[in-house]
Amino acid sequence: MNSSLNAARRSRELAEAGDLVVDVLVVGLGATGAGAALDAASRGLSVTAIDAHDLAFGTSRWSSKMIHGGLRYLARGQVRVAHESAVERGLLLRHTAPHLVRAQPYLLPLTPAVSGGQAATVMTGYRLGDGLRMAARTPRRLLPGPARISAGRALSLAAPLSPNGLRGALLSWDGRLVDDARLVVALARTAASRGARILTRCRALELAGDGARVRDELTGSTFAIRARTVVNATGVWAAQLDPDIRMRPSRGTHLVLCPETLPGLRAGLHVPIPGESNRFALVLPQPDGRVYVGLTDEPAEGPVPDVPQAPEEDVAFLLGVLNSVLGVPLGRQDVAGTYAGLRPLLAAGGRTADLSREHALLTSGSGVVTVVGGKLTTYRRMAEDAVDRVVALGRLGAGGSRTARLPLVGAGAVREAGAVPEARAVREVGALPDRLRARYGSEAGAVRALMAEDPALAEPLPTGITRAELVWAVRHEGALDVDDLLDRRTRIGLVPEDRAAALPAARAALAY
Ligand SMILES: Cc1cc2nc3c(=O)[nH]c(=O)nc-3n(C[C@H](O)[C@H](O)[C@H](O)COP(=O)(O)OP(=O)(O)OC[C@H]3O[C@@H](n4cnc5c(N)ncnc54)[C@H](O)[C@@H]3O)c2cc1C
Repeated sequence: MNSSLNAARRSRELAEAGDLVVDVLVVGLGATGAGAALDAASRGLSVTAIDAHDLAFGTSRWSSKMIHGGLRYLARGQVRVAHESAVERGLLLRHTAPHLVRAQPYLLPLTPAVSGGQAATVMTGYRLGDGLRMAARTPRRLLPGPARISAGRALSLAAPLSPNGLRGALLSWDGRLVDDARLVVALARTAASRGARILTRCRALELAGDGARVRDELTGSTFAIRARTVVNATGVWAAQLDPDIRMRPSRGTHLVLCPETLPGLRAGLHVPIPGESNRFALVLPQPDGRVYVGLTDEPAEGPVPDVPQAPEEDVAFLLGVLNSVLGVPLGRQDVAGTYAGLRPLLAAGGRTADLSREHALLTSGSGVVTVVGGKLTTYRRMAEDAVDRVVALGRLGAGGSRTARLPLVGAGAVREAGAVPEARAVREVGALPDRLRARYGSEAGAVRALMAEDPALAEPLPTGITRAELVWAVRHEGALDVDDLLDRRTRIGLVPEDRAAALPAARAALAY
């Protein structure tokens, strides 16, 4: 079946949705819900998956975009979680999304604030992390091992570091997504290619074990979706659909810096947080040249907002930590944008930073299975566990999960023809820019073919995104409005000035 999502397919499938009884209804299309839709559809089950807003509307687009090897969990003695992370990272790098996940180098600068003993402890941790990589059978050519490097080499990889008192740096590697929202889009499209109905702008108003009352947010009309089993994958909003669940979200803020703000930064940075022995701020160079700086971990009390805001105290805190290692300190005016996300943590005692990042499955009295917690890296495992649970509950008679080796849309060889018409039309269109390959994988040629058809579509917008990519997102990636285009299919919207500049192009793409 076709993997393309668009307004026409949504209308068609929405019209059918009320008449069917599906095996699995998935509520929420973040990484977890889109993963669950794919897991169920690839076992041959009939699936409808809905989101109140858009693909990747929630926490899944506010992450640090890291595919973790689990080192942090190892440091806390959570060996099983750490191993699970390393295994899932290996699957993404090798089988499921090698186009979207890359190895990212990080430097921990050895400044006077880092003692010799602290450096030795961190290096031991990195070596244990490399052991996890080996245990997960991820080859070193995909993720090199850690090393101590000289001050000169550190400055060649990260020119903005202050040379004063720099003794060198600890170099380590981990996985990084080109863009977290693109992972969710790829999951949803791959699920759609296996027959799942992916319906955005459909809000579950009430859930029961045999379906949901749903409102089409575009028309306001309400209808029922009937299902043999129901998965609640609404993350930080899960308690709104199951009052027995108690969430205790924690806020993580990132700064967004424009490409010219830290010139010569070719590696990420782990910057020790003053006064904390095992917490680091992250400096994360992005493929589009922007740099994210994160991340806070603060309890977020009160009602859960649709889009969390980054408070000024978080911005000041992150700038302060970053400036502790820079040659030329940055000021508030250098911060081009900010974003904040809420971690979907289950309520338990202790500080949120110490709560387990393991995921949980909770079955309500009416039989709704809520899957919550975890992290982006382990979405596949969470999805597998949730679908195993509903298969057993609903006696659905499906086999085990098939997703560990199931390539996501775009994971094939670059010139492989896909199911979409532009892919079949690909002829020789010249060398593909790395940027397109990293975002579209095997579909890069098809995106490029759009530009060959209409050279006006090759015009670049902020962050280098072309108009062709916006048109592609409307035709194949389920983008329904300018917000979908600028805030989720691309991340132009993270910088308000860039968003304003690209708005006319987004409107034009919707009408193209
Ligand atoms: C700041 C931050 C940084 C992070 N960094 C990383 C990282 O680098 N690596 C990593 O592995 N993990 C990271 N995580 C964790 C990871 O991002 C989350 O665990 C993960 O994205 C949660 O995904 P989800 O699908 O469960 O929830 P979400 O992505 O929040 O999806 C829930 C969806 O449910 C929808 N929804 C809500 N209510 C309804 C309703 N009534 N009807 C229909 N739909 C509804 C929402 O619109 C939303 O799209 C980070 C988290 C935060 C907060």
